[in-house]
Amino acid sequence: MAARAFDLTGKVAIVTGGNGGIGLGMAHGLADAGASIAIAARDPTKSQAAVDDLARRGARTMAIETDVTDPASVARMVAATLEGFGRIDVLVNNAGMSIRKPAHELALAEWHTVIDTNLTSALICAQAVYPAMKRAGGGKIISIGSMTSIFGAGFAPAYAASKGGIVQLTKSLACSWAADNIQANAVLPGWIDTALTQRGRAQVPQLNENVLRRTPAQRWGTIDDMAGIAVFLASSASDFVTGAAIPVDGGFSAMG
Ligand code: NDP
Repeated sequence: MAARAFDLTGKVAIVTGGNGGIGLGMAHGLADAGASIAIAARDPTKSQAAVDDLARRGARTMAIETDVTDPASVARMVAATLEGFGRIDVLVNNAGMSIRKPAHELALAEWHTVIDTNLTSALICAQAVYPAMKRAGGGKIISIGSMTSIFGAGFAPAYAASKGGIVQLTKSLACSWAADNIQANAVLPGWIDTALTQRGRAQVPQLNENVLRRTPAQRWGTIDDMAGIAVFLASSASDFVTGAAIPVDGGFSAMG
């Protein structure tokens, strides 16, 4: 296949939660493939640092202060992207968080916070970009699941439910919008070294040892391990791939 199938020159991507961690790793890949990037997250200082980082790689980029749980804020995210870059080709639903408590200790408000941030946000953002993608004749929606999309997590039931939901939402978007030439896929990262998992390592005894023992690659993933899948799923190379949930996990989900 010609390398140009992976070329994103002239394409515009919104990456929610793209100011750090996996979102920034994916933004690196998209930027290096030629896309313009809108970083949509809450913390303006972190977002500015991400924009500076992407600009140093030669990307056209901007930060848009966004809370993905708030439909009005997401509508402003879409309007600002269209105003700044004129089109939207790719949405990466990456913003997420976890509350680590077993089911018998989890308050209902905590359940809603996790579901709203990780799952409902993906629907809100997808609905918000849909008109622009349809108008442009197609688009790509990439949503971040987890190994807990496949396996249960006794320490994080709301998180696991949200990530299971991401896979089913992805399949549903893929079916709904295939006729509009919009492909929707989920990426299921294994254990990636980010702020989220550094907090996990501090809270969960033996987490580091367990991850290394359970992961065939015998290492944590880096944020830049997430770049290649982002480019593939954002580019025309994946035009016949939709409704899939693809692990990027160093073999974690293959291990019996
Ligand atoms: P980080 O904590 O580094 O990144 C999460 C990002 O989400 C932050 O940049 C944060 O930015 C943003 N965010 C959180 N809440 C909101 C909100 N309400 N509105 C907008 N942005 C928000 O974690 P990771 O990079 O590890 O996680 C990224 C995604 O990958 C998450 O969906 C996570 O569940 C998933 N994941 C991570 C794994 C890992 O091993 N690290 C494994 C599997 C999945 P800000 O605070 O500025 O809003």
